[in-house]
Amino acid sequence: MKKHLLTLSIIAALAACSPAEKPKPTEKAEEQQTDKVDAPALEQKLIVKVYDKKINTQFIEFSADLIEQFWQKNPGYAVYVGYYKYDDQLSIPDEAGLKAEVAFTKEKLAQLQAFDVSELNPSNASDYYILQNQMQSSLFNVEELKSHQWDPSNYNIAGVFGVILNTDYKAKDERLRTIFKRMEFVPEYYQAAKANITTPTINHTKLAIQQNQGALGLFTGALHTAMTESNLSTQEKADFNFRIAKTTSAINDYVSWLEDKLKQIEADGSAKDFRIGEALYEKKFALDIYSSLTAKQLFDKAEAEKNRIHGEMGKLADKLWPKYFATQAMPDNKLVAIKALIDHISVKHVEREKFVASVKAQIPQLEKFVSENNLLEMDADKPLVVRETPEYQRGFAGASINAPGPYDAGANTYYNVTPLDAFNDDQAESYLREYNHWILQILNIHEAVPGHYTQLVHSNKSKSLVKSIFGNGAMVEGWAVYTERMMLEEGYGNFEPELWLMYYKWNLRAIMNSIIDYSIQVTGLSEQGALDLMMNEAFQEEAEARGKWRRATLSQVQLTSYFTGYSEIYALREELKVKLGDKFNLTDFHNQFLSYGSAPVPIIRQMMLNSL
Ligand code: ZN
Ligand code: ZN
Repeated sequence: MKKHLLTLSIIAALAACSPAEKPKPTEKAEEQQTDKVDAPALEQKLIVKVYDKKINTQFIEFSADLIEQFWQKNPGYAVYVGYYKYDDQLSIPDEAGLKAEVAFTKEKLAQLQAFDVSELNPSNASDYYILQNQMQSSLFNVEELKSHQWDPSNYNIAGVFGVILNTDYKAKDERLRTIFKRMEFVPEYYQAAKANITTPTINHTKLAIQQNQGALGLFTGALHTAMTESNLSTQEKADFNFRIAKTTSAINDYVSWLEDKLKQIEADGSAKDFRIGEALYEKKFALDIYSSLTAKQLFDKAEAEKNRIHGEMGKLADKLWPKYFATQAMPDNKLVAIKALIDHISVKHVEREKFVASVKAQIPQLEKFVSENNLLEMDADKPLVVRETPEYQRGFAGASINAPGPYDAGANTYYNVTPLDAFNDDQAESYLREYNHWILQILNIHEAVPGHYTQLVHSNKSKSLVKSIFGNGAMVEGWAVYTERMMLEEGYGNFEPELWLMYYKWNLRAIMNSIIDYSIQVTGLSEQGALDLMMNEAFQEEAEARGKWRRATLSQVQLTSYFTGYSEIYALREELKVKLGDKFNLTDFHNQFLSYGSAPVPIIRQMMLNSL
């Protein structure tokens, strides 16, 4: 498995789905500025106000309407969140489609402008800003970032077909008929893709080739088998076979077109740089992350935090060195000493056969610690189900939360843990050292309790469809990262120095994600430079560092969400401690923070300050 990556299956799905099918981002920098200048005014007015009932009702109708139209335009994305009304539609990413999207976005932005935000109650006001951000993001993507022209991996149909095939939301034969209808649009879809791709990058072209080749297997394998074994009529099956052939031929055609394109751009040097540069990066950061900081400020903050943590790890190394290396002198270079200690103690890990069982056994212990220390409210009605990752979902990450979507909030939340069956002995050993005795506990805090799973349980209570659908990734990841430190600070693990050392190593990964993402995309950091940083200053193994380099060349900004969200939540907590003095209560802080749903941290901050 790779790293613990994304985690929420919904978020993972969004990241994986095609841009033609996924939500698009945002806006102009000036508008963003205005938005942020407006915020304090909102803060003051909200305190004493009796909110206008009519305007609030209108706003709720407006957002429900916007969401319905959004699903109509993004039927594939709708399927990912469990909304199946348009499941037989595949939207075509052609010129007309892009124009319609821009028109829709501009119309919605204009309609949002017509609302007086100061008349909206806090929940609606935060939804307002989230919708505005979403629309601005969408416009930015089409008009400025233009990844539809340079990222061929935007185009891949397999994901949504896979969800329809594997999700039991209606009878299987009916789902097959839906798939049959949906396949009709595939050739047109890939024609539009080819017309859009004018300036591909080498990295994204290679990725698109690999992923689309992978997509073929779904149609010739699992789907073909399901259809053959179904109760469809002989005629239906014949038609189905014909359409599978058309579909695979459209995919094959796209793949060979990309292979030719790749040869050409490699030969004539016309490939576009995968780096998006400072101006686009700052805008994308402002829109995707919704931070109170600029990308450059966040980068500086990450650098400072990295140095602080190196200092803390150095102190722990002084303490632990004699315990493990009594007869050896400690290296002068502190980073070398820290690395030696980490390597040495990583041999303490669970047996490979007991990996899933160990994770399962830890969850009740974490829950016990949280409730005994009254850290936040836990909901016993919604237990987390720990299970082995289903076969068709394997290959993503070793452990991840699989949460029900907003339209199916009653369904189970699963903690998928992949057994190490696919590994040989060396791979398993390396993996187990990585997820050793201490890191495994931190992983479980992050993914499950009180990290992602607990946050989702609270989030589902907020009942805002807007926040469930357009939830802010930096808040979601930031919360999970925040809880790791919070648990240790509250005494989980009894302040064991080994646990803190491992925690710092784990935390450095989030910090380093921010540092390399910015450095690669904005200041041109090379592959070797990035590997040196990750391996020497964040103690990562080469395989992990290489994987991260690849990810940083294929995505922009997302890698900064962990550290940004975490540092802003932590800063908010410290700010409230100062403001409230003796009246500050950690439990209340957590419960209130989570009560707003997955809204951007600056918006939650605003609402929490308003409520003082
Ligand atoms: Zn071992
Ligand atoms: Zn996470």
